[in-house]
Amino acid sequence: MQVFEKLAEYRYEQIVFCQDKATGLRAIIAIHDTTLGPALGGCRMYPYASEDEAIVDVLRLARGMTYKAAASGLNLGGGKSVIIGEPERDKSEELFRSFGRYIETLGGRYIVAEDVGTSTEDMENIRIETSHVVGVDVTHGGSGDPSPFTALGVLHGMRACAEEVFGSASLEGRTVAVQGLGHVGSNLCDLLRREGANLIVTDVNPRHVERAVAVFGAKPVAPDEILSVPCDILAPCALGAVVNDASLPNLRCSIIAGSANNVLLEARHGETLVERGILYAPDYVINAGGLINVADELEGYNETRATKRVARIRDSVRKIIAIAKRDGVPTNIAADTLALERLHAISSIERLHTGHPYGMERRRRETL
Ligand code: NAD
Repeated sequence: MQVFEKLAEYRYEQIVFCQDKATGLRAIIAIHDTTLGPALGGCRMYPYASEDEAIVDVLRLARGMTYKAAASGLNLGGGKSVIIGEPERDKSEELFRSFGRYIETLGGRYIVAEDVGTSTEDMENIRIETSHVVGVDVTHGGSGDPSPFTALGVLHGMRACAEEVFGSASLEGRTVAVQGLGHVGSNLCDLLRREGANLIVTDVNPRHVERAVAVFGAKPVAPDEILSVPCDILAPCALGAVVNDASLPNLRCSIIAGSANNVLLEARHGETLVERGILYAPDYVINAGGLINVADELEGYNETRATKRVARIRDSVRKIIAIAKRDGVPTNIAADTLALERLHAISSIERLHTGHPYGMERRRRETL
């Protein structure tokens, strides 16, 4: 792979290869953009088949974090890391402590969090070596399970969409079809029930469905029916790529708003949703509640403040809808525009020298 060409393609700032023979550590940290602040992003542990595969994944994920943080109004940049290894087999205290020392060498340019294959326990081991870590244990100022905050963010995003489509942000009496009743989906059902929404649910795990029926009075449907069930809002909270050429003609909803990542199989499906008259709340914005919550740890975690910040997802979705109308583009494109416009606007204010000695400015932003 031509690494520098790859970095230049999307203007990545930095990539760091971390190798420690004693602990078996083979990790890559990618920092995409720190215009808004230090790059925050999870550490994924996965047995990548090749180094190229690991590089491609970490670069793609890091860039996604730049957009997610920028569109969510966070003062954070985009970064991500991967550890090449099998989580069940290769984890050890020394591996994560060794990785923590590498993060420390970056002086706060990259802040790590959990991701697929890593846990709070791993973050605790990293924390022994560096303070540039979030998602630590609650006894050390951690913010706990992000899922209730992700669900709350989805609810706020739904309100913005309902306002646009139905002329009222209220979800009372609306029918919401929830695909996946795991950590986020079950919390979302709870919030929606309190709002007075009618729930249609599915999950491949029958126990999750039984619970939703008993606790939330939801109507169950089979997993292969959820995408074609008539409803006001479809909430994908299980897997990605649910909007594709096969599912699109069968969709019978007015809004798609859920927590799943990569809801659209391809970007062009955003265009088809517009043609079908379905409003799509872009995944990386509406599911940012967990990120907003964990990022709050950087200021000394405060649940009230984090909850307020998650509520801003409603404003972000409103702005995206406005940009989509202004530019005549689908909302998935408008979300990227929102992120880029904020990056450009904030980078332009730095032309003004504030009188601090050289270097102070950058240090201030890195400690935000
Ligand atoms: P989870 O694993 O707890 O729940 C997923 C649920 O979906 C499970 O109950 C599973 O049985 C079900 N499921 C799997 N395949 C299904 C299918 N084909 N049809 C119906 N149900 C199916 O995961 P989660 O933490 O609730 O996250 C849900 C989604 O939201 C994921 O795509 C995740 O990447 C995304 N997300 C989660 C968070 C968070 O804070 N947890 C944040 C951002 C994005």
